Amino acid sequence: MISRLVAFDTTSENSNLELITFVRDYLAGHGVESTLVPSEEGDKASLFATIGPKDAAGVALSGHTDCVPVTGQPWSTDPFAVVEKNGRLYGRGTCDMKGFVAIALAMVPAFLEKPLRTPIHLALSYDEETACTGVRPMIAELGERLPMPRACIVGEPTRMGVVDAHKTITDYVTVVTGHEAHSSLIDKGANAILAAGELLCELARMRDDMIAMGDPTGRFTPAYTTVHTGLISGGTAHNIVPLKCRFEWEVRSLPDFDPDTLKRRLQTFGEQHVLPKLRAIAPTTGIETTKTVDVIGLAPDPGSPAETLAMRLAGSNKTQTVSYATEAGLFQEHGVPSIVCGPGDIAQAHQPDEYIEISQVEDCVGFMQRLAEAARTGI
Ligand SMILES: [Zn+2]
Repeated sequence: MISRLVAFDTTSENSNLELITFVRDYLAGHGVESTLVPSEEGDKASLFATIGPKDAAGVALSGHTDCVPVTGQPWSTDPFAVVEKNGRLYGRGTCDMKGFVAIALAMVPAFLEKPLRTPIHLALSYDEETACTGVRPMIAELGERLPMPRACIVGEPTRMGVVDAHKTITDYVTVVTGHEAHSSLIDKGANAILAAGELLCELARMRDDMIAMGDPTGRFTPAYTTVHTGLISGGTAHNIVPLKCRFEWEVRSLPDFDPDTLKRRLQTFGEQHVLPKLRAIAPTTGIETTKTVDVIGLAPDPGSPAETLAMRLAGSNKTQTVSYATEAGLFQEHGVPSIVCGPGDIAQAHQPDEYIEISQVEDCVGFMQRLAEAARTGI
C-alpha cells in the first residue's frame, strides 16, 4: 500500500484526485463509503470515511496526501517508486506521510474483521505542505455533514511518540513603497530598501526580545518564539532610488502567544519611525504588511480523550513536543481533541532519499491493531 500511494505524484502543486479515487475505490471494495470534500477549484479533494457504527463518535486517523517537491534534489532512485534497502523503504512521502495513510488503509480489513463499538474514521487531506489549508473545508464539515470525532490522531512522523503540542506558523509579507529618483538626486527620492532595512532592524530586536522571553513551559526547542526573515527583493538598478522593497518573514510561536502582536509592533514602529521620512518626500509612499500563512499551534490538553488513548496504544507514559506544525491544531480549534503520533522520523521528511524504517511501519501496525481491539470493546 505504501508503494501504491507513493506512485501517485501528489506534489502539492498537482491534483491528488487520482490517489483519492484509488482510495475511494479501495474502501468501496471493502464496503466502506467515502465522502469527498473537494477544493474550491475542484482539482483536489479530501476524503472522509467511517468504519463501524454511524451513530457514535469515533477516532479519526488523519493524514495529508500531498508531498513536497523533489525538484533539484539529488535522489539515488526514482522518488515515486518505493525501493526497499537495509530495512528501509525509500520514496517521496514514505515518511511524510503516505506511510501512515497507507498503514491505516491496509488495516481496514482488520478493522472490519469484527464489529467495532467505537467507529474509526479516516480523514485524508491535501495542500498540507503548502500552507496547511486543504484540510480546512473538511474540518468545517465535522459536526455538520460529517460526524464529529471524539479524538483525532494526526499521523505525522513522531517515531510513534505522542506529541501533544507544537508551535504555530505565521508568515507575513511586508512591502515598502518608496519614491523613485536618480541616485544623484536622493533628496527627491524615498529609498524603499533603506526603509525596509530599518524595519528589519526592528524585526531583529523582536527576535532578541522573544529569545529573552523564552519558553516558561520548557518544552520547546528552540525554547522561545522564533522570528525570521527568509526572502527579500527590491530595487531596479544601483543608480535608481528604489521604489519597492518586499520581504517575507515568519513567526513560529509558542501555542499561547499571538504572533499578530509582532505584526502590530512592526506596524507601529514603521508608522512612528520610518513612514514619516518616506511621506516627507511623497504621499504615495507606504508600508503594508499582510499575513500569508496562518497555521495554528497545538496546545497541550492533558488528559484529553486523544492523549489518553494514544498514550495507551503507544504504550507511552509521557508526551512530547515538536517544532514543526501540523493539521492537529486545526482539529483542536474545531473542538476535536487531537494529538500527533505517527511512524518515521521528521529528520527524513522533505529530504532527498526520504525513507521510513520498516521497524517504524511495524510499530505503527501494532498501534493500529491495539486501536482495533480498543474500538471493538469501546473507547
Ligand atoms: Zn507532513
